[in-house]
Parts: sequence; C-alpha cells; structure tokens
Amino acid sequence: MEQISKRLSALAASQTLAMSQKSNELKAAGKDVINLSIGEPDFNTPDYVKDAAKKAIDDNFSFYSPVGGYKDLLEAVCAKLKRENNLTYSTSQIVVSAGAKHALSNVFLSLLNPGDEVLIPTPYWVSYPEMVKLAEAKPVFIPTNIKSGFKVTAAQVEKTITSKTRMFVFSSPSNPCGAVYTKQELADLANLFAKNPQIFVVADEIYEHINYVGEHQSIAQFEEIKNQVVIVNGVSKAYAMTGWRIGYIAAPEWVAKACTKLQGQVTSGVCSIAQKAAVAALNGGLEYPKQMTAAYLRRRDMFIAELSKIEGLNIHIPDGAFYVFAEVTAFLGKTAPDGTVIKKSGDLAMYLLTEGLVASVSGEGFGNPECIRFSFATSDELLKKAAERIKVALEKLK
Ligand code: PMP
Ligand code: GLU
Repeated sequence: MEQISKRLSALAASQTLAMSQKSNELKAAGKDVINLSIGEPDFNTPDYVKDAAKKAIDDNFSFYSPVGGYKDLLEAVCAKLKRENNLTYSTSQIVVSAGAKHALSNVFLSLLNPGDEVLIPTPYWVSYPEMVKLAEAKPVFIPTNIKSGFKVTAAQVEKTITSKTRMFVFSSPSNPCGAVYTKQELADLANLFAKNPQIFVVADEIYEHINYVGEHQSIAQFEEIKNQVVIVNGVSKAYAMTGWRIGYIAAPEWVAKACTKLQGQVTSGVCSIAQKAAVAALNGGLEYPKQMTAAYLRRRDMFIAELSKIEGLNIHIPDGAFYVFAEVTAFLGKTAPDGTVIKKSGDLAMYLLTEGLVASVSGEGFGNPECIRFSFATSDELLKKAAERIKVALEKLK
C-alpha cells in the first residue's frame, strides 16, 4: 500500500521545477520551446573554478569533509563577507550546505517549533512557505503589490506580529519580483526587529550581485539585530554554479551549531569537490559576477522594451535578480482559440507554453495569482523571439 507521510502530502511541488520539467519534456518531444521558467544563469562556470575542482579531484579530496564545510571554504566565506559586505563573522558562524535551498531548510528545521508563525512578504520565492510547513510552522503572508514596488514597510510588518511570531523571511534582491530594499527601508525593519528580539530575520541574499541599482545592502549590517539575523547565500547565482550545490549561512554561533547538528544526521558535509570549487569562486572576486550582471541588465532592458509593446501586460521593472514579474489581470477571463477560458495565471502560463511555446511560471506559486514570471537569464536572441511569441499568443485571446 502506498502511504506517504501527512507532512509530505501537505507539501506543494515546486512550481519552478515543475514548469521547467514540463518545458524539457516538450523539448524532448521535438517542440521548439523557449524556457523562461527556471531561474538560473545561462553562463558556464568560470574556468578558474573548474580548474580548482579538477585539482581537488587530483589531490584526492575524496573523503568525507567536516559537516559544516572545509576550513578554507569557511574562511573564504568570512573573507567575502568582510570584503564585500563589511560584515565580521568567524568561521564558527558559517555552515556550508548543498545550495541556499538546503541552507534555508536547515534554518527552518533548526529554529521553528510547531505553531510558530513565520512572516513572509508576497510575492515570495516558491519554497519558503513549503519549507516552513515542513517544519510544522505556519506561514503568515504580508501582501504587497506592483504599486508598492512589491516591498513591505516596517509599519505593515508590525501589524502582523503576534505572540507566536518567530521569524521574518525575505529576499533582496527578490525572486520573483526583483525588488531591492534600500538601506533606509532595511534600517526601518531592523528598528522594528530590535524591539522584537524573539523574531529571527532570515535574509536570503542569493541575488546580491545581480543588482541594477547600486551596492548590495544586508540587513545584518545593523548591529542591534545582528544576533537575530541569519544570512543565506551561495555561489549558484553569482558564479553560475547552480549544479554544484554550494550554499551557506552566516548566523549567530548557536544557530550554526544547530544547523550543523541537523546536517550531521541528514547529509554530512556536502560534496568535497564542489566545496573546493567554491573556495576558488569566492576568492576569485567579482569580475565574473559583474560581467554576467552587465549582460542581465542589457537583456532586461531589451526584453522589457519588447514586452512593453504588448497591450494589457503590466510590467514591473526589476531592480535586481533576473526575472520580469508581470501583472496579467487584463488577460484573465479571456478565451483561447480552442475555447478554453483563461481563469487564472496558471492557465495563462499553460496557454503560453502550449500555444506560444514559451515556458514561464505562474504567479500562484509565488503567492501572487495576478502575475506571471519570466526569467531573462537567457540569450538576447531567444528573449527577443520569446517576447514576439508571447505577443502573438496573447493577441489571440478574446
Ligand atoms: N533563494 C532564492 C530566492 C532563489 O531564487 C534560489 C534559486 N533556486 C535559492 C534560494 C536556492 O539557491 P541554490 O541553487 O543555491 O539552492
Ligand atoms: N531560483 C530558481 C527559480 O526560482 C531555481 C529553481 C528553484 O530552485 O526553485 O526558478
């Protein structure tokens, strides 16, 4: 008899991964699909990183690594935090995991108790609420919209705090909407959390280098709350290393210890070769991330210029990350040529895939059913073609 746990039955599948899989299946069946669903750099990992991995293999880094990560990687993370963010952490405050996703799930499982409330601004990255639910805690959503630039204010957050609130989770730059919080906005939030020391702030900074409006600001810079902040980051986005699976946290030491304990029973130290590659990536500086970000900026502007030609598509210009999160309410309620009524953004994403051969992700998975997400981490040529296909498909809706 098939019997999966209640915990897992209640879990939604990742919509980003599901949509990407669907697109790959159509491609395998011979369809010329343009995949703007999954968000990952289309660039190759830099050669100096690959060389470090090859050397690690030859040097026999083939044994179990320390659970929280090799010492040189922990040192490279601390040096990066000092150099790039002016933040002081010791190696005992860093834990290396199999991607930022794994780092996040460690944090939720280590800090949350059943019934704890976790504040999550919408739109959010798909996996936050599901991971929170796996930890038997309760996601509490704080809505934002295109008019507010998809950002929450401290006053808005304050109203949602209850005696059960234990955590606030956000990403800046944000996936899916590209919102980037300013230093002042973060200072206001920090002020609020300083008055509520029972609340942990999980700051997902995986897109820190993909920022089109200036220097990255970390909420951990505010000393009064630094011992309440867990920074989550990794090399996936900054160094085009999504498949290598290296992420990390920088946190108060007791949080790092708790995550290490969990990891010690669940995964052990993560891939030894990938860790050595990550050391090279981080110590190699910012030239490569800067080159990629320049390409994303050019693509963003071109893609948005093309999408802006489509009547009814309400576009928010992202200040960071590599997604266009567009409001599509003008198309909901319309009918496709085959008679299907487009009731929600999920129907529209499916229609764009089957009719337009463009894979996107519906806003529903991000907690905003009025929107749809397109990744622009792909070539200029494909983006141009995709925008044209989207236009033609949307114009067919009556
Ligand atoms: N946080 C956000 C906001 C993301 O978009 C991603 C990308 N998948 C992750 C975390 C996870 O990153 P990683 O590939 O390092 O697990
Ligand atoms: N960050 C990417 C996205 O949101 C990767 C997919 C995932 O891990 O969800 O599309």
